[in-house]
Amino acid sequence: MESGIKSIVVFCGSSTGKELIYRELAYQLGQYIARMGARLIYGGAKVGLMGCVADGVLNEGGRVIGVIPGFLRTKEVAHEGLTEMIEVETMHERKLKMHALSDAVIALPGGWGTMEELMEMLTWAQLGLHTKPIGMLNVDGFYAGLHQLVIKMQDSGFLKPEHANMLLMDDTIDDLMEKMIAYKAPEVPKWITSSQT
Ligand code: AMP
Repeated sequence: MESGIKSIVVFCGSSTGKELIYRELAYQLGQYIARMGARLIYGGAKVGLMGCVADGVLNEGGRVIGVIPGFLRTKEVAHEGLTEMIEVETMHERKLKMHALSDAVIALPGGWGTMEELMEMLTWAQLGLHTKPIGMLNVDGFYAGLHQLVIKMQDSGFLKPEHANMLLMDDTIDDLMEKMIAYKAPEVPKWITSSQT
């Protein structure tokens, strides 16, 4: 499918998770991004699923930009083989930079860091600060519980249907990417500007 997506930010675990399938899907997502001619933007680490996605892109001849705060840039953590590494001061600056460089967002399995980054992108979308597709790859049912929570938040009146629908989810990379390419953001009033984030 023809896509306007040229730069994808991926949020994912700085751990690998226990099952091999997490690493496999992360690596495959990297390969997929490279094959579609897009660029990967991510947190710049070589550890965990983060390293797997980056390696998938690089081994397929694609481009990867890492955005890492100086205090995380120790020899053990920073990936040394990226196309470009951008060093920033703080975690907030990093998120803003990753956002500025990307036109689509994908979350793979992860922990607090992944959740925090994903939720912030959704919150910004809800506020009308951006119109990027946000996808969640439900590797081996990992995000089934979060999907249930989204339904609960909507049914309970905390989340409008159009805002719930901002989170795209699928089990396979192909199907998720298809949804992301077809995504049209709803019209929402712009409450605040990006300088107010
Ligand atoms: P977590 O899901 O808690 O493992 O955190 C992963 C997310 O938080 C990634 O998308 C990164 O942007 C950020 N992060 C957490 N730990 C690190 C680390 N050691 N090096 C680089 N980024 C990290």
